[in-house]
Amino acid sequence: MATTHHTRMLIIGSGPAGLSAAIYGARAGMQPIVVQGLQPGGQLTITTDVENYPGFRDVIQGPWLMEEMQAQAEHVGTRMMWDIISGLDLSSRPFRLTGDSGDVFEAETLVIATGAQARWLGLDSEQALQGKGVSACATCDGFFYRGKKVVVIGGGNTAVEEALYLTNHSPDVTLIHRRDSLRAERILQERLFAHPNITVLWNKEVDRFVGSGTPEVLTGLDLRDTVTGDISHIATDGAFVAIGHKPATEVFVGHLPMDDDGYLIVEKGSTKTAVPGVFAAGDVTDKIYRQAVTAAGMGCMAALDAEKFLAEADFASKASAAA
Ligand code: NDP
Repeated sequence: MATTHHTRMLIIGSGPAGLSAAIYGARAGMQPIVVQGLQPGGQLTITTDVENYPGFRDVIQGPWLMEEMQAQAEHVGTRMMWDIISGLDLSSRPFRLTGDSGDVFEAETLVIATGAQARWLGLDSEQALQGKGVSACATCDGFFYRGKKVVVIGGGNTAVEEALYLTNHSPDVTLIHRRDSLRAERILQERLFAHPNITVLWNKEVDRFVGSGTPEVLTGLDLRDTVTGDISHIATDGAFVAIGHKPATEVFVGHLPMDDDGYLIVEKGSTKTAVPGVFAAGDVTDKIYRQAVTAAGMGCMAALDAEKFLAEADFASKASAAA
């Protein structure tokens, strides 16, 4: 039977941003509810080794980290619920959100931490070799390719930044782009073209990621020339797909302002959206850093912003009742 849940703080999304908001919100007595969504734990649950989350001297596993974060959030008083938010009314407080289950969430404040997904090329061979040489995050996985040959696929800011970043580890980086010009900012292009360890392959798209061995690991890519159709092969140890991300914001269209790429817009230096009492944290509003630790930091900021908002709202309503 459909139920109505009331909370001072509803958090949508259970990645590092959502769970950090929950830990801070719970400890501030806001009795948060986290609605977990389609991928409980977020992008880290599809990552294997994590070496850049502070606090762990040894490599840890992404899914384990998220289990620990969830347990910590629950331990301090967060209620975890599984649902998909499919309807919302942000026109007045408490905000009213509806889940696919039919349940209604009435929330004094809302923290949106629904994250983003890397875009993939969609090839079967890409999926088969994910985590075995194929990655969508150079900052996360580049370190594992020290001294090895790597390629980056894409022509935007992310692809160029990832190629430049990878030169910290790899002496041989190839950027593969499907056209003959990049869409990345000029300054980044200049740095890319000037770098002695980076080669650019123009007019090429991936036909197949090629692996070998047991267990199978990536050994190269078959490339198709987008002008001539010719197929060629490039040997590589690592391939970074950098063709953009998609923030999970469809349900907020028409309710909250977004930029041209669909990221929620927040006030500079805070997590406030255009609707008072609604906050956004993590990859859903961040197209630049996109790290677990930055998402966690923004989750903390969102909880502090929400707490301050509620304290001010409570004070204002008491003052008007007394008047
Ligand atoms: P973009 O959408 O800007 O670029 C995606 C790139 O991938 C394009 O070059 C595109 O090619 C290519 N691509 C898309 N689909 C395919 C495909 N199926 N096969 C091969 N190539 C493909 O994404 P980014 O992640 O680079 O950037 C997203 C936004 O974030 C942008 O607004 C960017 O400016 C911003 N950003 C800003 C940063 C900063 O300020 N430091 C850092 C990173 C991102 P084509 O060019 O042919 O369309």
